[in-house]
Amino acid sequence: MALYTSMTQTQLNEELQSVLAHYNRCKQQNLKLNLSRGKPSKMQLDISKDILTALSDDAECFDGAIDARNYGELAGLPCARRYWAEILDCKPEQTFVGGSASLNLMFDVIARAYSHGLLHSPRPWCREETVKFLCPSPGYDRHFRITEFFGAQLITVPMTAEGPDMDMVECLVQDPCVKGIWCVPKYSNPDGIIYSNAVIARFANLKPAAPDFTIMWDNAYCIHEFDGEYVQIPDLIELCRQAGNPDMVFEFASTSKITYAGAGFSVMASSEANIDYLTKLFGVQTISYDKINQLRHVRYLKDKATTLEHMKKHAQIMAPKFAVVADALEMQLGPCGFARWNRPKGGYFISLFTMPGTAKRAIELCKEAGVEMTPAGATYPYGKDPDDSNLRIAPSLPPVEELEKAMDVFCTSLKLAALEKLLSV
Ligand code: PMP
Repeated sequence: MALYTSMTQTQLNEELQSVLAHYNRCKQQNLKLNLSRGKPSKMQLDISKDILTALSDDAECFDGAIDARNYGELAGLPCARRYWAEILDCKPEQTFVGGSASLNLMFDVIARAYSHGLLHSPRPWCREETVKFLCPSPGYDRHFRITEFFGAQLITVPMTAEGPDMDMVECLVQDPCVKGIWCVPKYSNPDGIIYSNAVIARFANLKPAAPDFTIMWDNAYCIHEFDGEYVQIPDLIELCRQAGNPDMVFEFASTSKITYAGAGFSVMASSEANIDYLTKLFGVQTISYDKINQLRHVRYLKDKATTLEHMKKHAQIMAPKFAVVADALEMQLGPCGFARWNRPKGGYFISLFTMPGTAKRAIELCKEAGVEMTPAGATYPYGKDPDDSNLRIAPSLPPVEELEKAMDVFCTSLKLAALEKLLSV
């Protein structure tokens, strides 16, 4: 097979006929498959069934003298704070353990910044004429949507193989309107990149013009390797402290991809000063979070070593699915030369760049053939990819046999969209 870009018109037409014939055969299968969101599969959820019986008696509902069944401990049960401090390599006093979703904590931090301001805000963000927020892209659509929801102007920062383009970040933070940045430092959504130590050090040493500049450090995939051993990244909270920026970062994580998605427990970690400040503000909206769930999670997951062992069970389920995707891409798209993609060792996504100007069309073709993908553009601010090229593949949900069929449709649709474009020029 020749590269699509070096084919003659005749060769392109022949290839189109053959790809179209295959696409029509795919359509006749009447598939109904979904690779659009990073949901754990049923097999993964089943791993954690013992959590349902982790507390079976009134007497077990205590963390020391604290009764988990009652109000109190807004910042989380002490055992839950110790648990997350060990996972994230920080101190228990630097953690705030919340409810069943970390996205909720992220939303609440931004909401408080707008309504009341953060610790070093000269005024609430709602009173600023302009608030700009940096969005490394491709990135996570739900992050971007939180800041868009409050009216911030979203600024795209390109991703490199080591993390966001730090030359650009260092330059942009000189603007006092730039109030923060979204980051997924490990197995980034969707690129699957681990930020390099050099990039992390540059984050700690930023010198932003805004005194309340905030790094939203979403460590959602902090222990989620499916290929190889656990990878430790530097603790940005400590690095920021050493660099004289102690209150610049909020870190987030949850057990959504460890036990039950949206039904586990979440954490926010930051300087003690930030945790104290936000605990007071959060105390207006809730008396305390679900400590029964915190307690059964800690009883079940115990500590970091036990949790890492638990994650190996997820890895056994995830690794073959990522292999199906990688093999399909390599075999079907590799020889055509118009697409490139990453091969991550953890996280939930594969990011692929197809021929510019064809991503939307490819997703449309997938849909017509019964395969739902994350919409093209979703990985960029405002849902608009300027190159119409990036696509996110989320292979976790379907069983392997379905994934194979879905990837056949996906690769065929990408080829068809690329051929249509080449032939229309
Ligand atoms: N952050 C990232 C980067 C994610 O990919 C996801 C889920 N797709 C979440 C947060 C959601 O986490 P939670 O369930 O804790 O809100």
